[in-house]
Amino acid sequence: MTKNFKIRQIKERHSYTYEEASRVIQANKNSVRRWVAEDGLPLITKEPQHLILGADLKRFLIEKRAKKRVHVPKGYVYCLRCKCAVKPVEGSLSLHDTKTGVKLLHANCSSCGGELRKSLNAQLMKDYGF
Ligand SMILES: [Zn+2]
Repeated sequence: MTKNFKIRQIKERHSYTYEEASRVIQANKNSVRRWVAEDGLPLITKEPQHLILGADLKRFLIEKRAKKRVHVPKGYVYCLRCKCAVKPVEGSLSLHDTKTGVKLLHANCSSCGGELRKSLNAQLMKDYGF
């Protein structure tokens, strides 16, 4: 499962041990170890202890997040079950108002039948035919 790590909490000029880094971004310490060992997160020192530069950790996590981002074309909605962009079922689209005034699109996934939700701005409302 993808986790939203606390990237903003990282201080770029600080160096972090595995434990400190995992505490700051709220990740498991073993995840940080694995990123160094397998995924190319660089260390600034190995002795006397492993240290990661905050700027490197921040860049690594931003790139990691960007790789997982899915492009959703016009007229499609991201399905949380299918984990991809899907075309909503024809005629299943409905528009709802939220308490904050945002328009919320409800529809059904054409692949799994699950419920799709998407907040819409003025431009997106035109794209979906409202
Ligand atoms: Zn689906």
